[in-house]
Amino acid sequence: MQKIISFEKKYTVGHMFFLLVINIMYSVFFQPLTNYDDLFFVVIVCSWAVLIVKTFILERETWIKWIIDKKLYNILKLTELIMVALLIVSAREFKLELSFLYLVIIIESYIANEDLEEPIYKLFYLLPFIFANIMYEGQNILEPNKMLYFTFGIAVFLGVQKILDLNIKEIKLKFLENKLLIKEKNSKNEELRKSQTSLQELNEKLKGQKLELEKATEEFRKKAAEFYVLKEIGIFLGRSLEVEKLLELVVDVVSGVMGVDMCCIVLYPEGNYDKKDVSFHIKTVYDKKTTNAIRQKIESGVLSFLMDNRDIYLDNEVTQTKNLFFENREVGSFAAVPLYKGDKTYGLVILEQRYKNYFYKNIVELLKSVANQIVLSIENARLYESVEELAIKDSLTKAYNRTYMQKIFFKMLQDADESKKPISVSMFDIDHFKHVNDTYGHLFGDKVLRMVAKTVQAHISKYNGMVIRYGGEEFLVLIPNKTSEQAYKIFETLREEIENTELVEGVVKTHVTVSFGVTTYPELVSDKDMVVGSADNAVYKAKESGRNKVVLAAKE
Ligand code: GH3
Ligand code: MG
Ligand code: MG
Repeated sequence: MQKIISFEKKYTVGHMFFLLVINIMYSVFFQPLTNYDDLFFVVIVCSWAVLIVKTFILERETWIKWIIDKKLYNILKLTELIMVALLIVSAREFKLELSFLYLVIIIESYIANEDLEEPIYKLFYLLPFIFANIMYEGQNILEPNKMLYFTFGIAVFLGVQKILDLNIKEIKLKFLENKLLIKEKNSKNEELRKSQTSLQELNEKLKGQKLELEKATEEFRKKAAEFYVLKEIGIFLGRSLEVEKLLELVVDVVSGVMGVDMCCIVLYPEGNYDKKDVSFHIKTVYDKKTTNAIRQKIESGVLSFLMDNRDIYLDNEVTQTKNLFFENREVGSFAAVPLYKGDKTYGLVILEQRYKNYFYKNIVELLKSVANQIVLSIENARLYESVEELAIKDSLTKAYNRTYMQKIFFKMLQDADESKKPISVSMFDIDHFKHVNDTYGHLFGDKVLRMVAKTVQAHISKYNGMVIRYGGEEFLVLIPNKTSEQAYKIFETLREEIENTELVEGVVKTHVTVSFGVTTYPELVSDKDMVVGSADNAVYKAKESGRNKVVLAAKE
């Protein structure tokens, strides 16, 4: 149907052009429009009207559909033929050309309309020509020359029809075959197109599945890494109570598994975390200079504010120029995890990576778990330390107690044996301590005891020494790897230091002195059971010889 419409539109334009040429030629070369014969003039006007109406109809989809469906197409064609037939008979000139147009319209109908194969239509399209001639010529038609023209005209039309019949049949057959072939090809094409589409869809699906698989693998990898971190920390937690060692492991494992450029755990001293004296554990790819600079900045407390809001701080788009903390190194992503429990704050875990958007959202949960583990281990270790301290240390002076001494004293002597190195032992006693108590009270006496123990402890810790409260105001000091001569010098300096330390309590200002008895195993005393006695004897001598003295034990 679409084909007929497009053909008809082109034909109509052609017919109009033809009519226009006839009009112009007629008017210019033969006679003006006003001098047309009446019938010719009416037919020209009607022809224009028919063509204009037809053009109008061809623009209306619904009308043309109705016309073609009702087979009124032939009537439309017939109208045109009637007009041409009337033009042929009424025109004085161009009769041949108009006859040619008549023929052309019949050919057009053949091309577009399949019904023309039926015999009735062959005559159908000749009728306008026959009637127009008969009507116009009347009796004249019987004149021999008119009759000849009339019969010749019909013969030409019939002849042309016959030729068209033969050729068009063949063309139509070929056309049908082609149509079938095209249809087949189209259906094949359609099949190919469909399978191509389904292949594309399958491909898309596979791509999606691949992506999902990659995502799941990545997720699994991350989860496995998280699990590994927690497991390693957990194992270590169960094994050791030493916070320092645990933190070394945590920074190592976390930086390894997370692939960060820096993992750092900072523990600020309790209560005043913005001051120095922070414990600092770091695992990093930065050089020593950069690491030290970071350490100094952290120790100065520039990041301690991050502990205040208690939330994990994540910055996946670090702008280095805006924050001096990040100068001298490349940082794209930064995370800070506060270490706290209840209202107690311990410190921070700090992570850095040079790439931006490195810390994915799920990492927050892992970091929280790691932080909780660290806090738990710190608390455990501190608790353990305090319990342990209670058991082995004297609560007043913080020196080791007798019970602990009994545990380690002989072991230390054995170690000296094994390493073939000496160990010096000193017993000291505060001079006239009774008097201090009596004069300034027992509480002040306690303070003196604490001060003396602290001074001794601070001094001998430089030599890996150990202070034991032996009883009352008597202490034992063990210094490994020191000869009697070296020990004598150490205690002499210590004696002077105590003597020169002013004790102040309110308005009271006083000094105390201490008497040291020093012995060395195995240099001065070779019997392990006699070591304490040897030192005790030496103290006695120091007291006897006027106090505030260091006396070396006599060689036994
Ligand atoms: P010396 O120079 O001979 O050692 O004279 P001293 O006064 O120190 O004599 P002594 O050793 O007899 O006296 C020890 C005193 O130390 C007796 C006791 O009341 C006092 N003391 C022992 N333990 C404590 C303590 O824990 N706190 C206080 N404040 N005093 C103590
Ligand atoms: Mg005393
Ligand atoms: Mg005493």
